Amino acid sequence: ESAAHHNFIRTIIQEDIAAGRLTGKVVTRFPPEPNGYLHIGHAKSICLNFGLAEEFGGDCHLRFDDTNPAKEEQEYIEAIMEDVQWLGFKWAGDVRYASSYFEQFYDWAVHLIKQGKAYVCDLTAEQASEYRGWATKPGKESPFRGRSVEENLSLFEKMKNGDFDEGFCVLRAKIDMASPNMNLRDPILYRIRKKSHHQTGDKWCIYPSYDFAHGQGDAIEGVTHSICTLEFQDHRPLYEWFIANLPVPSQPKQYEFGRLNLNYTVTSKRNLKQLVDEQIVAGWNDPRMPTISGMRRRGYTAAALRAFCDGLAVAKTDGIVDIAQLEFEIRKDLNENAARAMCVLTPLKVTITNADESVEWLEVANHPQQEAMGQRALPFTKEIFIDASDFTEDTSLSRKKFKRLVIGDYVRLRGAYVIKADEVIKDDSGDIIEVIASLVPYTVGQNPPAEMKPRGVIHWVSATEGKEVELRLYERLFLAEAPGKATGNYLDDVNPDSLKVTKAIAEPAIVNCEPETVFQFEREGYFVSDRYDHSAETPVFNLTIGLKETVDK
Ligand code: ATP
Ligand code: MG
Ligand code: MG
Repeated sequence: ESAAHHNFIRTIIQEDIAAGRLTGKVVTRFPPEPNGYLHIGHAKSICLNFGLAEEFGGDCHLRFDDTNPAKEEQEYIEAIMEDVQWLGFKWAGDVRYASSYFEQFYDWAVHLIKQGKAYVCDLTAEQASEYRGWATKPGKESPFRGRSVEENLSLFEKMKNGDFDEGFCVLRAKIDMASPNMNLRDPILYRIRKKSHHQTGDKWCIYPSYDFAHGQGDAIEGVTHSICTLEFQDHRPLYEWFIANLPVPSQPKQYEFGRLNLNYTVTSKRNLKQLVDEQIVAGWNDPRMPTISGMRRRGYTAAALRAFCDGLAVAKTDGIVDIAQLEFEIRKDLNENAARAMCVLTPLKVTITNADESVEWLEVANHPQQEAMGQRALPFTKEIFIDASDFTEDTSLSRKKFKRLVIGDYVRLRGAYVIKADEVIKDDSGDIIEVIASLVPYTVGQNPPAEMKPRGVIHWVSATEGKEVELRLYERLFLAEAPGKATGNYLDDVNPDSLKVTKAIAEPAIVNCEPETVFQFEREGYFVSDRYDHSAETPVFNLTIGLKETVDK
C-alpha cells in the first residue's frame, strides 16, 4: 500500500539487511517514561516500532524509561502495558525497565571516570548553565573538570552512598565545552535524587540521565534500530559517544522521525496531566482525552487507530495531521463492523391506531451488509417514539427536502411498517405532544402501493418495550485548531460544552450488551457502552462519533 513508500526507516532496515549489516534479527523497542498515560502520538511510535519488528520477523521490546522517580508511578506502568496490548501488540520477552540496568550503568560511569572521561562537578545548576554558554557562545570549563581519577572515584562513590544532599554535585562526561552541539558540553550522567523509586525502592539515591541510560539500555538489549522523535536528533552524537566510549555488548543506532501532532488536540503528557489535575476532564481515560485509554473508552477501535497510524508518513519532519483523517478511519471501521440499533434522543409519541394491542416481534438484521452479524428481535407496539425532529405539520415541504413524517403523508419505520400521520395532539401552549397514525398492513419488508410511497425511512423505538439509557454526548475538547495559539495558553481554547449528558429511549436488546460494545444508533451516530459505568441496570452509552454528514439529517 502507499504508506509503505513513506517510511524511511523501513528503507534503512531493508538496506541494512541487503548490505549484510545485521548479524541477527531486527530489534526495536518502545521506551515510554511511566510519567503519564500514552496518547495518540505514542500510538504512532508503537505502531512503527512493533510494526517494523513484525514486518522483518524481529522483536520489539517494551522498556520503561524509568530514570526519574520524581515523576513516575506504578499506575502509569500498568496503564501503558494495557494500552500496548489493547492495540494488539506483543512485546518480546518480559517487560523491561531501564532501572534494572542501574548497576551496569553505574559500572560504566566508573569506567568513564577511570578513563578520565567523567568527573564530579559541584557547580550549582545556575552556575552550570552559565558555564555552558549558548549555541553561538562556547562554554567555559568547570573548575572541577581537572579533578583526579581517584578524587572522582571517591566522590562518585560518596554520591552513591548518599553522603551528599540533592543538588550538591553531579557526574558529568568530559567531552567538549566548545562544541556547537550543546549536548556535548559535558552533559550530566548522574544526579542525586533522594527519592524512592517504584522499581528499585531506596536502593539508589543517584539516577542516570536519559542520555546516559537510553543508548546503553539499547545496547544491553541488542536493539538494532533505536527509533525516537526528532527532538533527539541533537542528542545522537552523544548517543554515539557513549556507545563508542563504553565496553557495550552491541552497537545500536538511533534514528529520528517526526512527531505526530493532531489539530484540535494537545499531545503532551505535561498538558494532559494538567487537564486531569485541574479536573477539566474526569481522568486520563476520559473519552475526550487523546490518550489511548480515552479513545478506547470513546469507542475508537484498535483496528482503526492502527489503520490511522499505518497511513501516516514516517518522515524527518514534524507535521500536523488533520483530525478528520483519524475520524475517517474510525467511521470506516465502525460502519463496517458496528451493529445497528435504534435509539430515540428526543422522543415524540406516535400512537398507531390500527396496530395490535400485543407486542409484535420483528426480526431485524444487525447489519445491512454483514449477514454474519445475525438478527435481533425488535418489539413493535401500538405506541412508539420517533424523534421530534422527524415530524412536521408543514405539508408545503417537498418530499425531496423532508424525507420524514409529514401530516397526511407516509414514512417507513426502519425494519417495520410504513405508517401515515393522521392527526396531531397538542398541549395548551400549542406544542405537539402526540401524533396519531395508522400503519399500512403487510408492509414489513414489502413495498406499499405506489400511491403510499414513503417519504423516507426513520428510526423509532417501542414506547412500552423501549428502555431508558443515559447518553454522554461528547464534542471536541478544544475549539481551536491549534489550542493555545491565540493566547499562549491552550486552556483558553477548552470547549466548555464538550460533554452533555442526556436520557434517551433505546430498543431493549442493546441494554444487555457487554461494556465496550459499539453500535450505530441509526441516523444518530456511533455509540459505545461505557467501559466502566455501563450495565443492564444502568445503561450508559458514549457518543463515539457522528455519522458522516448526509443530506438527509
Ligand atoms: P510527551 O512529550 O508527550 O511527554 P514523551 O516523548 O516525553 O512524550 P515518552 O514516554 O518519552 O514520551 O515517549 C515514548 C516514545 O514515544 C518515545 O520514543 C517518543 O519519541 C515517542 N513519542 C512521544 N510522543 C510522540 C508523538 N507525538 N509522535 C510520535 N512519537 C511520539
Ligand atoms: Mg521522553
Ligand atoms: Mg516526556
